[in-house]
Amino acid sequence: RKAFGKEIFKHQAIAVKLADMYVKTTAAKLLVMKAAVEKDEGKDIAHSGAMAKLYASEVALEVANEAVQIHGGNGYVAEYHVERMMRDAKITQIYEGTSEIQRIVISRGLIA
Ligand SMILES: Cc1cc2nc3c(=O)[nH]c(=O)nc-3n(C[C@H](O)[C@H](O)[C@H](O)COP(=O)(O)OP(=O)(O)OC[C@H]3O[C@@H](n4cnc5c(N)ncnc54)[C@H](O)[C@@H]3O)c2cc1C
Repeated sequence: RKAFGKEIFKHQAIAVKLADMYVKTTAAKLLVMKAAVEKDEGKDIAHSGAMAKLYASEVALEVANEAVQIHGGNGYVAEYHVERMMRDAKITQIYEGTSEIQRIVISRGLIA
């Protein structure tokens, strides 16, 4: 959609959001890859797996929330898939170990 004469993604405030979203998702993928490589190497990935799961879950919700915002009112309604993505992202903070528990696992790894 265009607003004020140009595509929404060309507005600088939106472009900056997209840049942040891209950086965060890339960082999350790298943490997942780090844990995967360590798993392939036969290492204990309790710590790196918890970091990957925590960060990827937090970023998924943050980025999906921004995606809804960028879509405006269309982002909130069920006709667009982006509101579904936000709900799907939320559950990643809850199942397979909640974000609170991942943080506890990570902090224990720092102390050990
Ligand atoms: C759609 C969906 C699919 C699911 N699929 C599966 C599945 O396939 N297999 C499966 O086994 N489970 C599944 N679950 C269950 C899911 O893993 C649990 O919901 C999750 O582990 C959280 O447990 P709980 O809901 O009992 O929350 P609670 O344990 O009641 O936790 C509530 C809140 O308290 C926090 N909390 C709890 N204990 C502590 C603590 N010691 N320190 C700090 N904070 C704490 C939690 O982080 C959370 O924020 C699914 C859940 C949903 C919603």
